[in-house]
Amino acid sequence: MKFYLPEQFKKTMSKIAVFPGSFDPITLGHQDIITRALPFFDKLYIGVGVNIDKKYMFTLEQRVKWIQQVFKEYKNIEVVGYKGLTVDLCRNVGAKFIIRGLRTSADFEFERIIGQVNKQLYPEIETIYLLSANEYSSLNSSIVRDLLINGGDVSQFVPSRLDIKL
Ligand code: ADP
Repeated sequence: MKFYLPEQFKKTMSKIAVFPGSFDPITLGHQDIITRALPFFDKLYIGVGVNIDKKYMFTLEQRVKWIQQVFKEYKNIEVVGYKGLTVDLCRNVGAKFIIRGLRTSADFEFERIIGQVNKQLYPEIETIYLLSANEYSSLNSSIVRDLLINGGDVSQFVPSRLDIKL
């Protein structure tokens, strides 16, 4: 027996997720989470945040451009800059899922609070946590920034097609 869904139903059933972060700059750890999360969704927005309390090494335009470069062949990935609440970005793009990566128990404690607050702000949202791959569990953007400041080679920590320089 065939079962036909009304058009508007199909639309609400498309699975849309947001992966929010600073990506200052994008690392292999971020890339790994994105490629592993992608098969579960029809569309993945990478939300590049602008937080007035944070000092970034790279401009929003630069951070966005690098991510676009890495995922340019992926039609279902869109990179967007955003200010304000992640749940507002989710509402704006129709996403019901937030993706986050977990490296350590410190990450867990930090993410637990954000995840629970987001759920309170937007009860329909579910945050999905992916454990960091073993080889990337000590990798973060701040290590990459430190290396850059001190003239180190960051090529083994960032996506291969990027030439990240200060
Ligand atoms: P934020 O400022 O929101 O923490 P980040 O760019 O540092 O932004 O991180 C965005 C997301 O990517 C977070 O969920 C973080 O845990 C995850 N992440 C960052 N580095 C790694 C890594 N090496 N392995 C797995 N997840 C990571």
